Amino acid sequence: MMRWTGKRIIWTAALLLLGAVLLLSVAFAEGRRERFEEETFFAMDTVITIKVPAKDKQVLPECRKLVEELEEAFSRTIPESDISRLNEGGKLGISELSADTVSLLNRSLELAVETGGAFDPTLGQLSKLWNIGAEEPVVPDNRAVSEALEHTGYENLRISGQEVILQNGIELDLGGIAKGYAADLLKDELNRRGVEDALLILGGNVYAMGDNRSSPWKIGVSDPADSSRIMGTVSVSDCSVVTSGDYQRYFEQDGRRYHHIFNPETGVPAENNLSSVTVLHRESAAADAYSTALFVMGLQKGIQFAAEREEMGVIFVTKDNKVYTAGKLAESFLLKSEQYQYETQN
Ligand code: AMP
Ligand code: MG
Repeated sequence: MMRWTGKRIIWTAALLLLGAVLLLSVAFAEGRRERFEEETFFAMDTVITIKVPAKDKQVLPECRKLVEELEEAFSRTIPESDISRLNEGGKLGISELSADTVSLLNRSLELAVETGGAFDPTLGQLSKLWNIGAEEPVVPDNRAVSEALEHTGYENLRISGQEVILQNGIELDLGGIAKGYAADLLKDELNRRGVEDALLILGGNVYAMGDNRSSPWKIGVSDPADSSRIMGTVSVSDCSVVTSGDYQRYFEQDGRRYHHIFNPETGVPAENNLSSVTVLHRESAAADAYSTALFVMGLQKGIQFAAEREEMGVIFVTKDNKVYTAGKLAESFLLKSEQYQYETQN
């Protein structure tokens, strides 16, 4: 029988330690070598890229199918979608809607309440009137804006166990949250299939799942003055990064820019000193709704809103090229562009 003398214990421990170190470095090297495969397609009115480890690439077609199914439910322009049918008839039974639509509507309502209506999923009449994405949009007259505004307001969206009712002629527009919600569902689906590391890019909505070759994912924050460039980066794992900006969709008339984020109180594009708001949050639907809402609230209210919530981080960019950050999650932000000045006010 082997006797455990002091010397032997030391040798055994040393060998075990060496083995562990070797194993760890192999795992680390494997991690570093992890190759990714990606698929890019157009859906939900934007370019979508899904990037997963090469060993998991069989999930890519399923991811695409899931996004397309969600688009068919949430779109305001596809006539047979859940949202179009609701907008058309003003009322539908829960059983006539997909479960995802019902939970997206519930979440939208919660976020509308939480943001004091700065995020409002019932601005369909306004977006229809402004029609920012049209070929030749024009600024509507004040009367038309006030009229459309009368048929908005999240308090008119009623969801019970049996039905969804749109009161007072409101129409839904989930453009401010649907991509974030889709990112959350994609992430859940990938997790269920055992995929831990992935990058989901749905236009300005990004979900960074797990790591990129053993390091956090580095996500670029667009330069609002030239969206083909980045003005900074954040480094994140298991976190969504969502940007709302006045440069993403707009038209110009008489030298003024009219962008796609409306102030639900006035019915016109939010007017303040912001050019973009980037929100970091583990829940992409929340990040999406918050980034829209904070853009409406403006810098001061936005910073206050973020300060009250530990689970979010925000990067604000102003029209006069200043950058403000709020919240722990935004601490990884690195300014890369010399055109901007970092303001450390908090
Ligand atoms: P986002 O790019 O996420 O900020 O969302 C902007 C889109 O959401 C617009 O194109 C509209 O479809 C819709 N939208 C505009 N203003 C608001 C608002 N205040 N609250 C919610 N959705 C909005
Ligand atoms: Mg949004």
